[in-house]
Amino acid sequence: MSTRAVSKTNHSTEKSQTKSPIRIVPLHPHVRDAAAPAPHLTYRNGPLLTNVELFTLFWGAAWQEAANTQLSQQMNSFFDFILTSQLLDQLAEYSVPGKSIGHGKRIGTKILATSEPGKSVQDSAIQSLLKSELANGTIPPANANSLYFVFFPPGTQVKQGGAASCKDFCGYHDATPDDIFYAAMPFPGCPGCLGGIALLPALTSTSSHELCEAITDPIPGQGWYDDSNGEIGDICAWKTKQLGPYTIQLEWSNSAGNCI
Ligand SMILES: [Zn+2]
Repeated sequence: MSTRAVSKTNHSTEKSQTKSPIRIVPLHPHVRDAAAPAPHLTYRNGPLLTNVELFTLFWGAAWQEAANTQLSQQMNSFFDFILTSQLLDQLAEYSVPGKSIGHGKRIGTKILATSEPGKSVQDSAIQSLLKSELANGTIPPANANSLYFVFFPPGTQVKQGGAASCKDFCGYHDATPDDIFYAAMPFPGCPGCLGGIALLPALTSTSSHELCEAITDPIPGQGWYDDSNGEIGDICAWKTKQLGPYTIQLEWSNSAGNCI
């Protein structure tokens, strides 16, 4: 990611050069730093996912077990609902000339049972997996709107940038050096990632957080970002609401000046 880090500094303020942009869902309970300046996202001229084409990948044979398969189907139904919902409508305020954010769609799903993430999986292995699946044609080819959501089975800890799931974060999104956009969603098998709610609503909440961030800031720090407060979902972490049958996270609205 060193080439990416270099390109990031081109547009960033001095202050943000020292650390990589926030792209994670923090553990619950999350208290925003009261000393931080009032949130306001500004656009850094990078790509946006205007009509996201989302593919879900459930990594590991454990997803073939009945309870986990059911959860995977519930998450697919969640995306089918949410991608044409009010949640995406509200992101339209972050449209810019030539990039109009509208509804998206889920273009497919796969349970990947022929390889295992293991007890601990590094971000680099997730990027390698996507690269090889794309090269083999076993997942749909990437375009400028593609977003691959990778879900992990119970017992797998995901590691990214020296941090770990259920220790430091509950999910994140990022871009590979060749701009393949993806989200990594560890199984919420700890109190910090369940946030006092049940498994499915916890996972839909954190997934909505990463979805909205991937749409508005697909290359972290190069889309809509706030140097003090992070991305659209970070500002409202673990503030949830019900939309239809699903629990989702509130997202920051510049126009409302609030989490909505
Ligand atoms: Zn975030």
